[in-house]
Amino acid sequence: MAEETIFSQILQGSIPCEEVYSDELCLAFRDIQPQAPTHILVIPRKTIPSLKDASEEDSALLGHLLLVTSKIANQEGLQNWRTVINTGEAAGQTVFHLHLHIIGGRDLSWPPG
Ligand code: 5GP
Repeated sequence: MAEETIFSQILQGSIPCEEVYSDELCLAFRDIQPQAPTHILVIPRKTIPSLKDASEEDSALLGHLLLVTSKIANQEGLQNWRTVINTGEAAGQTVFHLHLHIIGGRDLSWPPG
């Protein structure tokens, strides 16, 4: 059984969030520590700890999450934004429930740190 995370608690409604989008497959809410004027997290309702734990059967879900990031960016009035999935601790993942960051509203440099 996958471990309880802060995001599974947000999905259950036991921890509040500033919701920006919701459907039967995912939930999106503002990051509590925004790194840019717009910083939103999109999470699947299905518990998948990390991108490396996703399988072939999650293909449609993963595609849906990407399209949702685009829909939300549009909703937020962003013309340019970055979609980030940190996978594993050394890559910066701190919450082990798959999530896509939508970061925008300022110029973003490359490469990332
Ligand atoms: P990661 O570092 O795993 O890619 O991203 C986790 C993100 O979740 C971080 O940007 C962090 O600020 C955000 N976060 C952690 N706890 C909470 C919370 O309780 N509420 C919200 N809205 N964001 C959180």
